[in-house]
This record gives sequence, C-alpha cells and structure tokens, in this order.
Amino acid sequence: MSLPWLYETQQHLAQSFRGQRFHHAQLFCGPVGVGKFALSDELANALLCQNITQQTAAPNSILAPCGQCKSCSLNLAGTHPDKRITQVDGQSIGVDDIRAISDFMNHSAAQNGNKVVVIENCEKMTMAAANALLKTLEEPSNSRFLILTTSQPAQLPATILSRCAKTDVKVTSTQLAQQWLESLQIQNYPWLPLFYSQPLQVKQWQEQNQLQNIDTLYKFATEFKQSHNFKALVDIINKQPELVRIFTLFLSEQLKQQLLQGMSFEAYQEAQQALSEFLQNNTKILGLNLPLAVSRLAYILRNK
Ligand SMILES: [Zn+2]
Repeated sequence: MSLPWLYETQQHLAQSFRGQRFHHAQLFCGPVGVGKFALSDELANALLCQNITQQTAAPNSILAPCGQCKSCSLNLAGTHPDKRITQVDGQSIGVDDIRAISDFMNHSAAQNGNKVVVIENCEKMTMAAANALLKTLEEPSNSRFLILTTSQPAQLPATILSRCAKTDVKVTSTQLAQQWLESLQIQNYPWLPLFYSQPLQVKQWQEQNQLQNIDTLYKFATEFKQSHNFKALVDIINKQPELVRIFTLFLSEQLKQQLLQGMSFEAYQEAQQALSEFLQNNTKILGLNLPLAVSRLAYILRNK
C-alpha cells in the first residue's frame, strides 16, 4: 500500500539500513489509522526480500520489497515461512504468544536468512509477556527483526521502550491526507479535518459504509443542545457502541468552539468533565440506560 505521508519515514528507514545502523527492534508509535501496520508489513516484506541491498542502494530510495523475487512472491501469497504477524483483537497478548515468537525466532530461516516478527498493538502485552519479550530484545541477532506498533506508547514498560528504535508515525502534511482521501472520493464532510491524522480510519469507515452514520453523529453533536429527541442518536450508538467515542469527540470540538466564543473556562471544564464521564460510563457500565445518559448529558451541556 502506498501511503504518501509515510514516504519520509520509509526513506529514513532505508537510510539507516544503507548505513548499517538499522536496529533489530523497531517500534512504530502513532494514532489509530495512520498506517503503522501497513508500514510494518511493507518493512517486514522488504527485510525478507532477496534484493533488499539493491532496493536500498540509491540515496533517496525507500525500504520497500522488489515484488519480483521468490521471497516477495511468498509474501504476496501470504505464505512466507520467515514472517510472523501477531494481531489481537480486544484481548491481551499473553506470555504464550511471546514464547511462540521466541521459538519462531530461534529456528533457522527457510529463505534468505532473515526472519521478521510484527506485533501489532504491543501495549496489549501482559506484564509477563513484556518480560518474556525482553529476553528476545536483549539477545539481538543480525538476521532477526522485531517490529512493534502501538498507539499508546505510554502504556509500554520503560524496559521495552529503551530497547527499541522508536519512530513516531504521523501524517506529515494534512494536504497529503486530504488529497489521498479525495482520491477515494471522500470529501466535503465538515468533520473530515478532525481525522486527517488518521486517514486509514476514514477509509475503513468508507469500506464499512459508516461515513453516513458518522455524518449523522456530527449533525447530532452540532444540534445537541437544542435537541430533545435523541431516539435516532441512541439507535446508532446502541447498534455500534464504538461510535460513542466519535460522538463525544464531536461534542468536545463543539465545546472548544464555544470556549473561543466566550464560554467561561470553568463552564468549559465542567462540560468536558461531563463528556468524559459520559464516555467512561458507556465503555464501562454494562446495561447502561443510554437514553437516560444521553438526556442527562444534554441537560448538563444546555445549562453551561
Ligand atoms: Zn523481493
């Protein structure tokens, strides 16, 4: 996948590879939807590519696979024996997962000699898992690479952080994200600039036919204080509880506007506090009375 805002980072990676300064453990930090996984996957494929040295020889090259060699065809088919990807959905990454990774690393490579492991959302490691991973990090080998991604680096133990080469993955220019989204026919939504730092998140919404729902949530947020009928809003959140975050983000942006327009800072803080409580209750309380929670929030915001 070619994501134009990652180009600079890919150039830097190629540069350190050329200079033989490439660290065996890479940590990519950045918001959800910036492309950390796409970057990791491409890097893994490049490290396994048999033509990696030629690929990175030119001064401005990026660290990318040739797409032609045997390793690259195996990666295209998703069957490369020297690549392992750990992705968990929701639950944590346990010590058994890390032991399986160490075993994988310790066995000899099937192809050109390198082996690569990608661990997505590595902040989901349990403490025992992180400790097990430390062993792998402390015994680097020339031909073994570990690529970690996280959107919450603060949750990682310092011992892990200090043993990785850390790269902040971000959208370097909003224009690049805007143009990229336009090329996917995503434009003209008033809320779109809020997500220029997470273009892949927006693309995912498009693929899941969510853009209309997000737009509806935005309209609800802008009219929230005047509105008294929340049924449609409650319906959307009930069906897709994860969208409550987006709705509170929109409300929070509204409050920032009101602050600029003269709302007192005290009232602003109280309103933001009510918002974060609303979000917390939604994610933590099972069987929350959502219609009641929404009207209560509207009542608080209306009186600020
Ligand atoms: Zn190749």
